[in-house]
Amino acid sequence: MAQVVNDGKTANPNVLNLKEITHGLLFLTFDDHDVVGWRKAIPFFAQNNVRATFSLSGVIDKEALECMKALRGSGHTVGLHTLHHADAPEYIKTKGGAAYMKDEVKPQLDVCKKAGLAISTFAFPNNKYDDASLELLSGKFCHFRVGCGLPRGSAVANFDKAFTPIAEFEGEKFFRGFGVGEYYSSRLDDLEAVLDRLAKNNEVATLYSHGIASCAKGVNMPLELLVPLVSHARSLGIVMAGLDDVPW
Ligand SMILES: [Zn+2]
Repeated sequence: MAQVVNDGKTANPNVLNLKEITHGLLFLTFDDHDVVGWRKAIPFFAQNNVRATFSLSGVIDKEALECMKALRGSGHTVGLHTLHHADAPEYIKTKGGAAYMKDEVKPQLDVCKKAGLAISTFAFPNNKYDDASLELLSGKFCHFRVGCGLPRGSAVANFDKAFTPIAEFEGEKFFRGFGVGEYYSSRLDDLEAVLDRLAKNNEVATLYSHGIASCAKGVNMPLELLVPLVSHARSLGIVMAGLDDVPW
């Protein structure tokens, strides 16, 4: 597969034409630093025609950089999620925007730049953002993964804020996600109902999780949920793409 470049100038070969999507669009996003589990999942995603989004927190060392390159080389979106996972609004309020960029964002961006990885996606740590943090980060990124406000433990399928009609999604820079995993009390029947709704109404939804592994606990994505979820989405004709695949 061709290397995907997202510098705003070079064409991304996977860029979506939203008008051609008729049975819903799903963004699978993963945060933090599971560089081993994410790499292991690459063949599964490739076999199932899924492009996902991975936003790294922490130090981007050699192993993390290799993971990012492997994900990008497989057509996935690679984003950033800050060095120390600090809440942006509070950090900026107490220490200022320049300190936030210097301490949390620039160290990661510098490593990516040196490695030739253009980055345009940012996942706000803990989904916390406000006008000031958004204005600051809009200078560096154009796609933002945030939350949709779903109360933890609630069913997703009837929570309208988790869904956007595809006709209203053109030019959207916010991807309002809901969490999936044990911590979020996710259930396969509810997630399948989310997919049924997406396909029926031609809507867009975003989910976020963290590590990927068999029997994963806590905030992580168990393969026992991911595999049937992807299978159901495929059977319904739902497109699964990365954030960078949306034109901006
Ligand atoms: Zn995180």
